Amino acid sequence: MSCHSYDTDCPRCGTKNSIMASTSTRPIDSVNGECLACGLAYYTKMYEMNKIELNEIRKCYEYKGKKIKKLTKNMKDFNLNYNIKVIE
Ligand SMILES: [Zn+2]
Repeated sequence: MSCHSYDTDCPRCGTKNSIMASTSTRPIDSVNGECLACGLAYYTKMYEMNKIELNEIRKCYEYKGKKIKKLTKNMKDFNLNYNIKVIE
């Protein structure tokens, strides 16, 4: 697994190096961080779109004529498999 941790300036409160951030490239490129000064937090969210959302986005990319893949693993198992914490 490729992980990288760093601290960086907070764009919200302006504090230097107050955000503890990290990036990872598995299973997807992701980033998360928390500002220790003001509480700003962010993360990359991975989720499963519903059929309506998926069809809308498919239209944007002109992705046609393909059935939605049926998977044996649901999102919960997928997240557990990669030790992804889910924030609602
Ligand atoms: Zn801040």
